[in-house]
Amino acid sequence: MMRRDPAGAATDKYDLIVVGGGIYGACLTLESARRGLRTLLLERDDFGGATSWNSLRIIHGGLRYLQRLDLRRYRESVAERRWFLRHFPDEVEPLSCLMPLYGRGLRRPSVLAAALALDDRLSSRRNDGVRADRRLGPGRVIDPDQAVELYPTIDPAGLRGAALWTDARMPRSPRVLMEILRWSAAAGARALNYFEATDLIVDDGRVVGITALDRDSGQCYEFETRRVANCAGPWSRELSERFDREVPELFRPTVAFNLLLDREPPADLALAVSPPDESRSYFVVPWQGRLMAGTCHAAQAIEPSDLTPDHPLVREFANDLGAATPKLGLESATVLRVLAGRLPAATGGGATPTSRPVIVEHGKRGGPRGLVSVSGVKYTTARALAERTLGVLFGKQLAATGDVARPEPAAWPALSDISQSEGRDSTLAARLGRLATDESVRRLEDLTLRRTDIGLDPERGAAATEWLRDIVETSTSREPGS
Ligand SMILES: Cc1cc2nc3c(=O)[nH]c(=O)nc-3n(C[C@H](O)[C@H](O)[C@H](O)COP(=O)(O)OP(=O)(O)OC[C@H]3O[C@@H](n4cnc5c(N)ncnc54)[C@H](O)[C@@H]3O)c2cc1C
Repeated sequence: MMRRDPAGAATDKYDLIVVGGGIYGACLTLESARRGLRTLLLERDDFGGATSWNSLRIIHGGLRYLQRLDLRRYRESVAERRWFLRHFPDEVEPLSCLMPLYGRGLRRPSVLAAALALDDRLSSRRNDGVRADRRLGPGRVIDPDQAVELYPTIDPAGLRGAALWTDARMPRSPRVLMEILRWSAAAGARALNYFEATDLIVDDGRVVGITALDRDSGQCYEFETRRVANCAGPWSRELSERFDREVPELFRPTVAFNLLLDREPPADLALAVSPPDESRSYFVVPWQGRLMAGTCHAAQAIEPSDLTPDHPLVREFANDLGAATPKLGLESATVLRVLAGRLPAATGGGATPTSRPVIVEHGKRGGPRGLVSVSGVKYTTARALAERTLGVLFGKQLAATGDVARPEPAAWPALSDISQSEGRDSTLAARLGRLATDESVRRLEDLTLRRTDIGLDPERGAAATEWLRDIVETSTSREPGS
């Protein structure tokens, strides 16, 4: 349970305060609490509401890293995908992926067959400890007829086969982040949403605390700690400057986005597609009866919030998708939602995202000892970076002592039950109210977008909005300190 309790949190002293409640901050909070460290997480908006919410919801096994022969990142991705499948079998599941092969460039059956065979060999431990129905089989190349049978809308003209492999997906990704936070709470961590870290308190060159603003009550708090991790994602550079100094390599922002499209998936498979010039490649992924497509990297400077469904870059992307897979008619599909966020770019400018996470130890640069800033690159590898960050903060790898098992998942009702009930079911409403209080819901959108997925599809979510508003109002009035 992770009820919001600022006054209670202010009475403790902490071994570590984590700033930023995206997936990187959430994983660090968990790994810290599992090691018996007193840990507090501060998130200025809602948990997981920024970049992490906008991901394509794929837990990547790093096939792309293998193609680039970046074996370190490949192995790390395989291990982290296993971690998610092993610990969250209720929320993370296998995702079959299909890449049609027309013989252009490296997309030839012989090349992909070799790559998938190597992937199978190098990831031989990918299923260790994973529940039987969450295990991933080996990839293979199939012939054109089989490919068209599996995904009827792929173009058979010139098709020479298709690569078929399995990765993992999070159909309700906000639940994964919330379950990580519930696990952290069970291990003793505290977490406060709508709490903005404002200043670092330093004494004799060492971190001794942090000040933060409760954005709900307007009250300022001081928390005592010897270590602070800045996990503010796209804002990590800005926060680093506020706490210590500008660190340009921390996060050079570039914008990327996915589209939720009003199209029924022709098959329960992710389709890898490229426009005819092969200059880009995307995935079209089934998501709760709709298609989600991504990820498009914006080549120009733009705010994620400017990317509305009728923005020229969104139209251009939809047209690209249409050209890549004409029979799906994606260029004319209604864009239900644009999921846009910032990613760190590679050195040298441009929109190419980097594959290198950054951990900055400020004490080593003449800044406050006990402060680190972190900038990650993938949802998939957030936990691995958390372990490395703890190593930097504490000067050694700390083993998980007295490890606490993940609690039973919170019993959120299915999306279909919520949307069909229209508020008439008082038992359901009472259950939602309790869950909302237990998971620090403060605003309607916390409930509709970040505890459940009901509002992600605006068409389906609209009907439930009004009666869910009452639930949120009742549950927030029950919070300690309200
Ligand atoms: C379009 C898109 C698609 C993607 N798809 C995938 C995918 O399929 N698979 C994958 O593995 N990765 C994917 N990624 C990458 C992945 O989503 C990110 O690497 C990851 O979510 C970054 O998490 P984060 O915690 O660093 O940042 P965020 O999620 O942005 O979290 C940072 C948090 O810090 C908070 N904050 C900022 N300042 C303060 C402050 N002063 N006090 C308190 N809190 C503060 C913010 O409010 C925010 O919630 C995708 C990214 C994008 C943009």
